[in-house]
Amino acid sequence: MAYQAFSDQTLGFATKQLHAGYDPAEHNRSKAVPIYQTAVFELGDYDRCVRLFSYEEEGHSYVRFSNPTNDVLEKRLASLEGGAAAVTFASGMAAISSAILNLVRKGDEIITVHTLYGGSTTLFNGILKDYGVTTRFVEDENDIESYRQLICDRTRLIYIESLGNPGINIIDMRAVADLAHAYGIPLVVDNTFCTPYLLRPFDWGADIVCYSATKYLSGHGTVIAGMVVEKGNFNWRNGRFPQFEDFYRDHLTSIGKKTLDEQMFSKRLRMRYLTDLGGHMPPQTAFYVLQGMETLSLRMERHTCNAQKIAEFLEDHPAVREVNYPGLVGNRYHALALKYFPKGPGAMMSIRLAGGFKAAMRVLKRVRIWDYMVNVGDAKSLIVHSASSTHFGHSKEENAKAGVFDDTLRLSVGIEDAKDLIADLDQALAEGS
Ligand code: PLP
Repeated sequence: MAYQAFSDQTLGFATKQLHAGYDPAEHNRSKAVPIYQTAVFELGDYDRCVRLFSYEEEGHSYVRFSNPTNDVLEKRLASLEGGAAAVTFASGMAAISSAILNLVRKGDEIITVHTLYGGSTTLFNGILKDYGVTTRFVEDENDIESYRQLICDRTRLIYIESLGNPGINIIDMRAVADLAHAYGIPLVVDNTFCTPYLLRPFDWGADIVCYSATKYLSGHGTVIAGMVVEKGNFNWRNGRFPQFEDFYRDHLTSIGKKTLDEQMFSKRLRMRYLTDLGGHMPPQTAFYVLQGMETLSLRMERHTCNAQKIAEFLEDHPAVREVNYPGLVGNRYHALALKYFPKGPGAMMSIRLAGGFKAAMRVLKRVRIWDYMVNVGDAKSLIVHSASSTHFGHSKEENAKAGVFDDTLRLSVGIEDAKDLIADLDQALAEGS
């Protein structure tokens, strides 16, 4: 009889990443989590159909709503994260946009920072604005007063990244969470660059965690995937969220008070934004994410260990003007890195080159092991020029605020031999054409 580790928080991370949320006895004793490659499930009889569609009974009817393969992944990530529930999505952006839509209505406001993944900035600034939702960007993300000044009656969430993309900056999450909670506002954190192995945002006060599972969670650059996790103890009925008041009233009889109290965010997220916007994660993808997550702790350990070595090498290199990695003693976020990242502040870094834009282009042309591509969080090492790719089309001022300049390269350090990665960078950084 397999051990279902979902609710046992005493188990270690490595055990849970292999077993949580899965009981082979419920799946023909298949040891690997089966891929339920179907679009629909039989409803059985009329009574069961009504119970399923009124949410009185948990079960699967149509794969856009839920699927047993995804179900395991959702439980596994919720377990690793220390959360109450999770929902899978087709991509990180589908996860983030759905989570935000679950919280805002016309006239509402969002507080966030300039140091965000470009797609998220566009969502806030370019898309939600057209639907009557205003986003206010804090002046200084390291100054808690900057956040406080922007809070008003219509503020519905504060949104940050645990390690900013591409600035690789660290925000004092605990301080922001405490401030948000003092006003009855949830803190939403994109934890893509850290994964629960390096940092569990719920331990520091976050209420909702979003992921691009395209990155470290799946870990091999094979799928596009996203997830949202709910901590489970936020009071959604505190007067700021009429949509949750309505949801509670409409579903109290069928879903029940306990589940609504613990998982109201996820239930509404699934029923409304996963189901009706339709950005579901295919079960094949869920399988790949599950497979990647089986080695998450091992990969993250190696990623961070390699990153520290590479940052130290680059720091001493004459062709490099600046290395932005919080694991370096001189980095402005080093003190926060020590507080929030005892296992190391991830494997993302950015560098600015002494030789400017031309030198950056030369490096991209010369690298042999490092792949020139926009993805991050792959087992393989990746390098990219942010201003002409992920941050293309943003103004110079916007990019400067996000730490992106013409001479900036972003590095996603993989799990190859560190000495080979260093030798490759060394030859690419050498002077001459
Ligand atoms: N969040 C961060 C921090 C990212 O880096 C990305 C993509 O690069 C996303 C979200 C969006 O994820 P996806 O590409 O899976 O939609």
